[in-house]
Amino acid sequence: MINGYAGTILRVDLSNGVVTKQALPEDLVNDYVGGRGFIAKMLYEELPPDTDPLGEENMVIIATGPMSAHFLPASGKTHFGSKSPATGGYGDSNVGGHFGPALKYAGYDVLILTGKAQQPSYLFIEDETVEIRPADQFWGQGTNTVEKMFKEELGEDFQIITIGPAGEKLVKFACIGHDFGRQAGRTGIAAVFGSKNLKAVAVKGTGSIPVFDIEALYKKGKQAFEHVFNKPGFKGWVPEGTAGITNWVNMVGAFPTRNFQTSYADFHEQINGKAIVEKIKITDKGCFFCPTPCGKYGKAKTTSGSAFVEGPEFESIALLGGNLMLTSIEEVAYANYVCDELGLDSISAGVVVSWVLECYEKGIINATNIGREVKFGDLDSIVYLLNIIAKREGMGDLLAEGVKISSEKLGHDTERFAIQVKGLEWTGYECRNAPGMMLSYMTSDIGAHHARSWVLGHDIAGAGKSVHDLIAGGGETKKLSKAEVRGKSKVVMDSQHLRPLFDVLGICRLQFMEIGFEVEHYEELFYLITGKQRSWQELLQVSEKIWHLTRCINVREVKGYGRNYDYPPRRFYEEPIPDGPNEGNYITKEEIDLMLDEYYEARGWDKNGIPKQETIDRFGLSSLVQSRES
Ligand code: SF4
Repeated sequence: MINGYAGTILRVDLSNGVVTKQALPEDLVNDYVGGRGFIAKMLYEELPPDTDPLGEENMVIIATGPMSAHFLPASGKTHFGSKSPATGGYGDSNVGGHFGPALKYAGYDVLILTGKAQQPSYLFIEDETVEIRPADQFWGQGTNTVEKMFKEELGEDFQIITIGPAGEKLVKFACIGHDFGRQAGRTGIAAVFGSKNLKAVAVKGTGSIPVFDIEALYKKGKQAFEHVFNKPGFKGWVPEGTAGITNWVNMVGAFPTRNFQTSYADFHEQINGKAIVEKIKITDKGCFFCPTPCGKYGKAKTTSGSAFVEGPEFESIALLGGNLMLTSIEEVAYANYVCDELGLDSISAGVVVSWVLECYEKGIINATNIGREVKFGDLDSIVYLLNIIAKREGMGDLLAEGVKISSEKLGHDTERFAIQVKGLEWTGYECRNAPGMMLSYMTSDIGAHHARSWVLGHDIAGAGKSVHDLIAGGGETKKLSKAEVRGKSKVVMDSQHLRPLFDVLGICRLQFMEIGFEVEHYEELFYLITGKQRSWQELLQVSEKIWHLTRCINVREVKGYGRNYDYPPRRFYEEPIPDGPNEGNYITKEEIDLMLDEYYEARGWDKNGIPKQETIDRFGLSSLVQSRES
């Protein structure tokens, strides 16, 4: 028995139906803690050489953390890891909702899926019972539809993760849907599900998890909830959730607009958090034990269709709204719903579609290539493009490969405005005057993703400001002078250790990031759950070790990996921003290289971005690395 953990790894080989239950190794727990830590260690150790991300031998690892499923704020995160079809390297993503707690209550900290089922299947887990079942009736259906069907068939108390048509068609940016509107969106792990003929996992758990001091945990948990409710940021943040940041991001000239051609949208007030509250929201919706529900469930009515939808949250507002020039919140919410139902990551889908629209606008492709006329701001054409991508119809077959491959194949210098790093499409912050944030995207281990490091506030306002302070600050849009690029590595590295630590522990970071819930509470909660005194600083060191390990995975899995994989798209260092608060600003190629030099040096990586042997030794990774080299 290990306090805080269910104690078992569940392995399912879909090729032969063999189910194995393995005791959770104590050294894995001590060295890698949980969630993303378990995923990185297992992928490094177990992934066969030269694995095709969509081949039978790829693994899907679904992991919880030690703080998942306990009585404390927002303990419902579930983490997914795989060799990514989008990047060919380390891939992970996470989802809120209720799946992870159900898996843990069923008795499993980790679920590992390998092989390939002979027919469309789903995995049924009810405590001890684990079965691979046919999924013919679910195949081809959208994620919300499938979830409803499962609930009707198995009962409301089953938690479902499922892919949509896009995952079945192996779209490289397909997402996993859960809880009617939550997604594990990034790095294309749903396509790995599809390649394994696996439509869904349904789980119900009725067990319990051992903890070190249950009475003290209950008392502390209650205090923690009270503490969050009483934080000054609570009342301001919850009504709009992540969408509440839209005005500020636009005000500082970081809002992706028209395929990142510019960074300011004059229609932002029509698609911001206030617009959600006024136009579509019916109720707030939260994950397991969440005191700060950021989900905004509502109804979107448009001329292209209507739907009940959770969201859009900020990323979808940025990538489907500003970036596609959809100027009403109802339209953004409907596009968001279409992505969810098809099982497309709304971030990547927004970037791929905006790239197509720019190609079309520039006359590089035409209506014959695409199948109809398309344009920015036109919901019908956007819904059409999302559908052909998810079904791989016509040009959708190329677009389903993601914007990097699509632009390489199309040519005509379209890579310059294919907004991605390492093959993963960029998320909701335009960075031509935010060098720290730019460096965060460039060096993120999964490709261009903000959740690994978010230092936009530091770039704009300096150190010591929370996101809440920044939003509350509001203010006028004004011309910003060019930002200083030197000395960004420390703040970026600190953020790269801090934010992913929540993905190791299995909890949501937003109570800390947005509401200001202090880390000391997590230290105490960790102790009461596990019985182990580990300071936040020690846990950050584990997170730092994992950062080096995921870099080692990328170096091993992607041929020729190094500095050339850390550059942003050329638009960002060749084109000054044409208008808005950052008009004329951009970061030059020389400045990009300077930032990379500083970052590699601070990380203990060589000039090409490869971890040095002394760094691998320093973080205790030598024997793991050697075990795969020998
Ligand atoms: Fe889920 Fe949002 Fe709550 Fe985090 S803040 S647990 S993402 S509802």
